[in-house]
Amino acid sequence: MSGKNHGGYHGETIDIRAVLRESEITARQHGWTAEIFHEAGEFKLPALKRGSVASSQKSVARIYISTGIHGDEPAGPLAELKLLQENHWPENAEIFLLPCLNPIGFTLNSRGNSSGVDLNRDYRNPKAAETRAHIAWLERQPKFDLYLCLHEDWESHGFYLYEQNPDAKISLAEKMIEAVKKVCPIDLSENIEGRAAHGGIVRPNILPHERPDWPEAFYLITHKARQGYTLEAPSDFPLPVRVDALVEAVNAALA
Ligand SMILES: [Zn+2]
Repeated sequence: MSGKNHGGYHGETIDIRAVLRESEITARQHGWTAEIFHEAGEFKLPALKRGSVASSQKSVARIYISTGIHGDEPAGPLAELKLLQENHWPENAEIFLLPCLNPIGFTLNSRGNSSGVDLNRDYRNPKAAETRAHIAWLERQPKFDLYLCLHEDWESHGFYLYEQNPDAKISLAEKMIEAVKKVCPIDLSENIEGRAAHGGIVRPNILPHERPDWPEAFYLITHKARQGYTLEAPSDFPLPVRVDALVEAVNAALA
């Protein structure tokens, strides 16, 4: 571990303009469509969509992947770019990919947006224009079978994830941890961010309606999907390790 991150993230930053440009070019090359759902300053925020290429539409899984809501977590946007470049997606899946929900945050290396608002606490009574536009876009989409939100945690000792699975569907958590273990240490703490954890998996007992400040994941589990994961790469490790951790976790979930 670098030991650099005291009181916040002090590691590498990325050129978010270049990452987003590259993502859109790569997505187009592989047949994705892009919809601009919001303009924030100089940035046009894209939602990328890849259709199913399976012959039967019956068993299509709809998978939502988002990242870049915290501007001091560079591994997420780099991971989505790597996933686009690798182009290994299940045939029978529709993928909805939000490559960066807070690009201005990346230009400031700040968690929040240009006004310092943590967008990932703004999904219950949204005030920020970015959140309102994102929710308006989500409302136009079908329900998803799975959501994956890609994050980093500058305080963690390794990779970990949060699972929301209220209907007790087959869990993907262990599969993801097994895959990530090969490229990045797992945070084996028994308490992560004040919640009981086991083997890098946090299964919080949360009733969104009892909480005032919703992260994106609460909106998703309440309105759009009945299973999902928030993936947390450890910011104290080298950036390529964190990117690989997120990529391996997504690939394991989709396999
Ligand atoms: Zn985050």
